[in-house]
Parts: sequence; structure tokens; C-alpha cells
Amino acid sequence: MTLNIPFENTYARLPAPMHLAQRPIPVKAPSLVAFNADLAAELGLTGTDDPQLAAYLAGNSIPDGAEPLAQLYAGHQFGHFNPQLGDGRAVLLGEVVDINGIRRDIQLKGSGQTPYSRRGDGRAWLGPVLREYVVSEAMHALGVPTTRALAAVRTGQEVIRERPLPGAVLTRVAQSHIRVGTFQVFAAQRDVDSLRRLYEYTVARHYPYAKDPGDLLQMVMDQQAELIAHWMSFGFIHGVMNTDNCTLSGETIDYGPCAFMDRFDPEARYSSIDRHGRYSYSAQADIIVWNMAQLATSLVLLMPDTDAAVDQFTNQINAMPYLIRAKWLARFAAKIGISNPAPEDSDLIGDLLNLMHHGQADFTNTFRALSRDTARDQFADRPAFDAWRARWQDRIEAEADPETVMLGSNPAFIPRNHRMEQMISAATSGDDALFHRLNRVLADPFADQPGSEDLQAPPQPAEIVRATFC
Ligand code: AMP
Ligand code: MG
Ligand code: MG
Repeated sequence: MTLNIPFENTYARLPAPMHLAQRPIPVKAPSLVAFNADLAAELGLTGTDDPQLAAYLAGNSIPDGAEPLAQLYAGHQFGHFNPQLGDGRAVLLGEVVDINGIRRDIQLKGSGQTPYSRRGDGRAWLGPVLREYVVSEAMHALGVPTTRALAAVRTGQEVIRERPLPGAVLTRVAQSHIRVGTFQVFAAQRDVDSLRRLYEYTVARHYPYAKDPGDLLQMVMDQQAELIAHWMSFGFIHGVMNTDNCTLSGETIDYGPCAFMDRFDPEARYSSIDRHGRYSYSAQADIIVWNMAQLATSLVLLMPDTDAAVDQFTNQINAMPYLIRAKWLARFAAKIGISNPAPEDSDLIGDLLNLMHHGQADFTNTFRALSRDTARDQFADRPAFDAWRARWQDRIEAEADPETVMLGSNPAFIPRNHRMEQMISAATSGDDALFHRLNRVLADPFADQPGSEDLQAPPQPAEIVRATFC
């Protein structure tokens, strides 16, 4: 059969400054590492048994109906504004409307140079491609809004990093690739016409009920507050929360040097490029407010009365920390079995987190054990835990079914950093078994899976990953 992707190309119809026509650059010898058949079915793809499938997913052949393009965007990278970034190693093939009626982008990442590549080679190596595949699919299984992975292919070409490494292309699926940085690029250029077209497109695609830019800002803030609270509830650290990696849809995007922490540490950071901890675990709740302020700064140009709009948007941004706090409380309360938290419950949660921090308890396993009330062994200071446990038991007496709430909020499985490193190192020498096994186990993260205990275990001292690279 022939691969059929029912493409639509609404982004390609937007005015010229927003994108450039750009075909992927062919590679030497495409071979499939993974194809996500469930996602393909959800997207309405047919003919996926096409013998040319890998060639399409590597960008060597263009599927019928695709109009490949590179998107323009800007962004604050570690706080410094870069007025022009754009897709430097990715192309959008087009969109499909999935079986649920939702429009989804299909993008190739690692598909070669574009006019936005700056000094980059336009390529990706296998390690980060497989990490993005596993982690984005794991996040989806955890219930976190995220871009998805449709496929990974080896290119049969080396890419040069610190050393020559096998190249790969990821097929990424997203509700859209519109970023805070997409608004920033036109705001910085004072191109209000393009900014307005982008605003109208974003509202029509993602927030049809938004009446004006202030409404859009609020809706994006709500989604992002929810997202960050959700990340934190699983110990996830994104690692590069630049404004170009912050979507309007509220999906997690751009899995670079991301990590799930093992021991609980509010200041945990892994990314080798995050030297000052700007994007550390706890800082994420502050940085998202900063990122939303950059979106507000762009949207204000669309308002007729600038002074009034600045006041209004400032109030909205100033309220965001409270919004995040409320979402955080809901997520963490569920982790200890509380369905409808009261403000005082944050003390109970905070005290537990302090005990975990000082005892260097494993974040994921401690909460999972708490779900069955077997967490005592995770704590260095047992009497302190016993005292906390007594208060906790008092509090959850009134809850209808705390165990079920906890088991659904506290995964047994997360993509542990040391396993990801082992997976990447094996795949680099041609062994994809751990990659496939991780995908299988992480597809059902809230279930106990006998025989997979090795994937639950925290790292041995020699296995601890201290830095992640992209
Ligand atoms: P990121 O840090 O992944 O969010 O990327 C930031 C910017 O750098 C984006 O515009 C990317 O397209 C670009 N970029 C990252 N890696 C490469 C590469 N190898 N070649 C060209 N552009 C790249
Ligand atoms: Mg990016
Ligand atoms: Mg990246």
C-alpha cells in the first residue's frame, strides 16, 4: 500500500513572513527504529505498511499533499532575547485533523538545514531523538499534555558532535508549534499585521471562545499553570524553558536535557547548559510566569488602549503565582490521597517534602509506597515520618477512597535518567532492545508490572546521572 496522510496546510496559507517553504534534505540510508501505530491510527493515517515508510519519515520522499515549511519564531534563551530563531533543523510537513476532530501538526525534526539554521548542521543525533521518543510518550501515558512521537528513523549518516554519532530524525506530532516566541518575533519587528493574523489563527485553532487578547492570555496562563503543576507532581524538570519552547496550546514541547529526578531536591537541575539553575525543578513555577509576561508584552500591541491594557495584563500576570499554587495544591494533595484540598493541606504536603528532602528520599518511589502506606522505609528519620504519618492518617480519614486517588497520581514507573543513558548507549551501538522495553513499560506507568522492578529502582551510586545533554 501507499502511505496516505490526509494533509491540510492551514499554516502554509498564512502570510509570507511567518514561514519559508523548505523541503527536508535527503539522507543516506533511512531505517526505521520505531513507528507508533496507535498514534498513526488516531491521526487517520493509512497505508503505513508502505515499504517506503522509512524514506518518508526520513524526509527522502515527500508524502502527497504535504507542503513542507520552516516556521519563523524568536525567543528568550536563558533570559536573552534572540530576535530570530525559527525551525533550524525541523520542517512542518502539514496538518491532519485526527479522529477526534483535533488538528495536529506533523513535523520532521533533524531533517537538515534551513535558512534559520544559523551555525547549526540541521541534524539531530540518535540519543536525543530516542530520549524525546521515550519521554514524550511516557508523559502522554502519565496524562501530561505533550507533543507526541510518531516515528524515529536512523539516517545512516553520522553527525559530528563531540565525536561522530549516528544521526536520526524524529517525527513529532503537536496540536501546533505556535510558541510564545512566535508572537515575540512579530512584536519585536512591530509587524502588527502579522501579529494580528497569528493571534486570529491561534484563537481559531486553540481557543475559539477567546474574545480578545486578554482572554487568550488568561486561557494560555491557565493551561500553562496546569502543565507546570502536572510536571512538578511527577518530579519532571524540562531543562530549557526558553520562550521558544513554551507553547500556546499548553503542550510540553522540546525534550532536550530534560530529566525526572530520583532523590527529591527542590533545587534539582540536570541540564549541562543550565549553569545557574534558571530552570531548576522549583524555579519552573516562577519562570512560567516570566514567560507569560513575555507573551503579554507581545499581545499588548494588539490592544487599542495600550495604557489600560498594560494595567490589565499586569494584574493578570501578578495573579498567576496564585493560580499555580492552587493547581500545585490539587496535584500534590491527590498524591497523598486528598481529593478536595483546603489551603492548610499545603503545610502537610510541605512537611512531607521537607522530610523527603532531608532524608534524600526517592521522589517517585516514596509517593508510590505512600499509596499503600508502606513508605516508612524510604525515610532516614523514621520517628519524624511516624509523627507526620499520624497527622496524615487523621486528615485522610474523611476521604472516600484515598488509595485509589493516590495510585492514580503516583506512578510506579517514570523514565529514570540512568536507564535513559543505558538505552542511548545501547542504541548507539545498534541494540534497541531497552528502547523498546522502556516504551512498553512506560505505556502503563500507574500499573504494577511484575518483572519490571529493575526499571523502578533508583540508580546505584555509580549509575547516578548528574548532567544531561542535548
Ligand atoms: P532548542 O534549544 O532545541 O529549543 O533550539 C533553539 C534553536 O536552535 C531553534 O531555532 C533550533 O531550530 C535551533 N537548533 C538547535 N539545534 C540545531 C542544529 N543542530 N542545527 C540547526 N539549528 C539548530
Ligand atoms: Mg526549541
Ligand atoms: Mg531542543
